[in-house]
Amino acid sequence: MKGDRVYFVGNPDALRCEQLRKVILESRDPSVINQAIHSAPDRILGVRFLGDPDQTGAIRRRPGQTLSIRIQGPDQAMHHARLLRAPDLAARLEQPVRQPEDAILPASMGITVDLVETIDRSEGSLLREILDYYLHNESLRVPIEPFHTLLTSLFHRRETDLWVLNRCSSDRILHVDPELLVHEIPPGGKPREPLQRIDPGTGKIQDLGREPPSVTHWKALPDRHPGCLACRQFSICRGWALFEKDSCATWLGLLDGIQEAVRALRDLKTRAGRFPTPAP
Ligand code: SF4
Repeated sequence: MKGDRVYFVGNPDALRCEQLRKVILESRDPSVINQAIHSAPDRILGVRFLGDPDQTGAIRRRPGQTLSIRIQGPDQAMHHARLLRAPDLAARLEQPVRQPEDAILPASMGITVDLVETIDRSEGSLLREILDYYLHNESLRVPIEPFHTLLTSLFHRRETDLWVLNRCSSDRILHVDPELLVHEIPPGGKPREPLQRIDPGTGKIQDLGREPPSVTHWKALPDRHPGCLACRQFSICRGWALFEKDSCATWLGLLDGIQEAVRALRDLKTRAGRFPTPAP
């Protein structure tokens, strides 16, 4: 097992397995979350809270532990604005975006918004409006994800790709379901046979000898999607946008917009470096 792999865990019993050294805990019950944080504080990197945002204040996370809250839209964000403006907290939109304000309004109120789980189900034109707001609104003080991670990773030439951002990358991320079965595809994705299971008796991980769906997809890519190999965004997308989907137009448009912004930033940085800093 790779030491840096992160496990998203939907059943705190999985924490009995010492091989899970980096855990994001998923639960709708603050008392379950608090108990798990108390029992394994150093292994829990963060929490994905699935319950009512009203209960966010009951979660006793430690410094550095991230918190991701599910919200339905701008009304809920406004209602809970005070709670949701906390550091290391992101408000996750899971429903398809119905209007740009679904993300723009919470972001303008200082709430970090995460759209990654809604992108594959949302209108590309609405997402482009949100991206434009993120890129060009100078008063924005918080990130809108995954645009921010993509922009900063590309600008600093850090490795990233859409499989990791979408939490579907068995080398880096796995998901433990309530039955202690371990999957590559996050909950909500097309169900697949598990890759591993955690033995409830021994607490050890057993590999079930199956190929991760991402690997199966890549192997078939040259035959099924030959256009990917010549695609200008292949180094970031790596075929994710056509994984169980018919069209990649939405992701392609977003990635083009972000690449354009990265080029403009690099250009500005180069031009700024040409001139000496004026004496104070
Ligand atoms: S954007 Fe589309 S064509 Fe390009 S790599 Fe992704 S899935 Fe393939």
